[in-house]
Amino acid sequence: MANIVLKNITKRFGQVTAVDNFNLEIEDGSFATLLGPSGCGKTTTLRMIAGLEDPTEGEIWVGDQCVFSSERGEYVPPGKRKMGLVFQSYALWPHLTVFDNIAFGLTIAKRPASEVKSRTIAIAKVLQIGDLLERYPSELSGGQQQRVAIARVLVMEPEVLLLDEPLSNLDSKLRMDMRAELKRLHLETGSTIIYVTHDQLEALTMSSHVAVMDKGILQQWAPPMSIYSEPANIFTADFIGNPRINLIDGVLVKSGEAWEIVAGELRLPFVSQTGTTSVREQKVTLGLRAEDLFLSREPGPDLFEGTVYSVLPAGSEWYIKIQLGEEVLTATIYSDMNLKIDEPIWVGVFKDKIKCFDQEDKLL
Ligand code: ATP
Repeated sequence: MANIVLKNITKRFGQVTAVDNFNLEIEDGSFATLLGPSGCGKTTTLRMIAGLEDPTEGEIWVGDQCVFSSERGEYVPPGKRKMGLVFQSYALWPHLTVFDNIAFGLTIAKRPASEVKSRTIAIAKVLQIGDLLERYPSELSGGQQQRVAIARVLVMEPEVLLLDEPLSNLDSKLRMDMRAELKRLHLETGSTIIYVTHDQLEALTMSSHVAVMDKGILQQWAPPMSIYSEPANIFTADFIGNPRINLIDGVLVKSGEAWEIVAGELRLPFVSQTGTTSVREQKVTLGLRAEDLFLSREPGPDLFEGTVYSVLPAGSEWYIKIQLGEEVLTATIYSDMNLKIDEPIWVGVFKDKIKCFDQEDKLL
């Protein structure tokens, strides 16, 4: 097993730059997720790691082996990279049983029958499909087919498992179950997983590290909760989190010895999250997550008066839209305040959660 390192990887398709000077070091045994909107270059990056696509420029290393270098003309073919790939469409053999689907690669590799049998049964047990081995794919649910597709790859004992949106064909309940299964599988097998998704919840719940991508460019590479609480820029802050983060244009001004953000109706004290000391008066974008706002029916110190714009119950929580001057902010509350549209409401902010981005789009 080994770290996977991408060095200055660029991939161009004619005029389109799908991946732009991408650098990443994926640690051995980690669960790394490539996350971003459609067309941001996730699949292209995964295919380059697998060896199915050649970078236009750059190098890819697996441990101390260079598997691709544009400069030195090095290229290790996909079959020799010890990686297993699972796509969104499972493409199981319809005329083979689950057992034969899983055993296919071992049979082709001419492994002894006893080994094929024992490895197939063992991996089916890990994926909890041991009682389905005699069935055909058409007799399985989507989630079961998906597990067969993963078992078929895992049985070959790849050092790295590459998964391209493998859950996107499943309904939301099954997706949630499969996230838990994949996370367990990762722990049980200890293999490195590189996972592609545009679903931020999937990335947050499963990964040890997330690479947020936009237009082929890496925006941030960090553990999921760091990305959530300290997004490197506005794109990342906006892409991660549900409901979306409130973003308000404002200015950062000096108020005595301290700093204050004035954004619309809000005046909030500011302490740099990143330890940036050379703050100066400047235009900024204020970022407030919905759960970092709280509501009160009474006025009070450091509360800002607005009106209830709409109330969106979501089972265990409520999303409240509040008109505050020109802005409409979203707040998440966790008990029913029985709010009525257009009633007055006071908004408070958990001050240690304030995010502030400068004009260069960097978190201050
Ligand atoms: P999605 O989530 O929709 O699958 P993605 O983030 O995986 O998107 P890619 O499939 O990597 O994005 O595509 C990145 C960019 O490269 C897109 O603009 C796409 O149109 C372009 N692209 C990908 N493959 C090719 C190709 N074979 N020829 C030309 N352009 C391509």
